[in-house]
Amino acid sequence: MLIDSHCHFDFSPFDADPAQYLADAQQVGVEKLVLPAIGASNWAAVQALAETYAGVYYALGLHPFFSAQHTPQDIAKLDVALAADSLLRAKNRSKCVAVGECGLDFAIADADKDQQVALLTAQFQIANQYHLPVILHCRKAFPEMIRLLRQHTPVAGGVYHAFSGSYPQAKQLLDLGINIGVGGTITYPRANKTRQTIAALPLTALLLETDAPDMPIAGYQGQPNRPDRLVHVLRELAAIRGESEQEIARVVTLTTAELFGIPM
Ligand SMILES: [Zn+2]
Repeated sequence: MLIDSHCHFDFSPFDADPAQYLADAQQVGVEKLVLPAIGASNWAAVQALAETYAGVYYALGLHPFFSAQHTPQDIAKLDVALAADSLLRAKNRSKCVAVGECGLDFAIADADKDQQVALLTAQFQIANQYHLPVILHCRKAFPEMIRLLRQHTPVAGGVYHAFSGSYPQAKQLLDLGINIGVGGTITYPRANKTRQTIAALPLTALLLETDAPDMPIAGYQGQPNRPDRLVHVLRELAAIRGESEQEIARVVTLTTAELFGIPM
């Protein structure tokens, strides 16, 4: 049994028939999905999917790629939403498992870096206030991300989604309690540095993700990615690490369930 730790299941094409896409995923053993939010505009959508489908969990946050649509009031709204959810959490009935996705995206044109840093700092503080892990997105901002993580280290941990980088970078994240999200990047032989890094890390550091409908798996370029294709990431991970798929699935699923407080 596998958990897709990062799936934008409220996006097209899944919104046309979520029950079918979820059944396709569960058919191959991808039994649970974590749906990160992108901003206040889709919080209701991810929450509604989690309330409708067993096995679906969600996060609330402000994605840096969509910084232009976020306002300072959205931070207050996030606080209100998580305060309401904490009542459910006290009764073990919440399916909100993290703050995210949040982070820094300095690769977008005209990135307002100060705004991104302010929004991420506020989300780190809120995550710690509610004792929730964070789902991190980072492009072209690694040193700044590490600096902020050192200042506001997430007390409930987190995951650096779609990791592609060097062993020293991964080690810095692990030392700050941040797990490494492994996705379709490793299915491309040209991603040699990332593949070598992932092969060298402790298995307990890793989470599996599709980032569907983004981040296509090798061999499926040009098509929307889907949560059932997480099994391709698992297969490649087993090949590059020289471990069995069963053992990797067992350990990674346990790590993911523990990080997000997902019942097994
Ligand atoms: Zn994402």
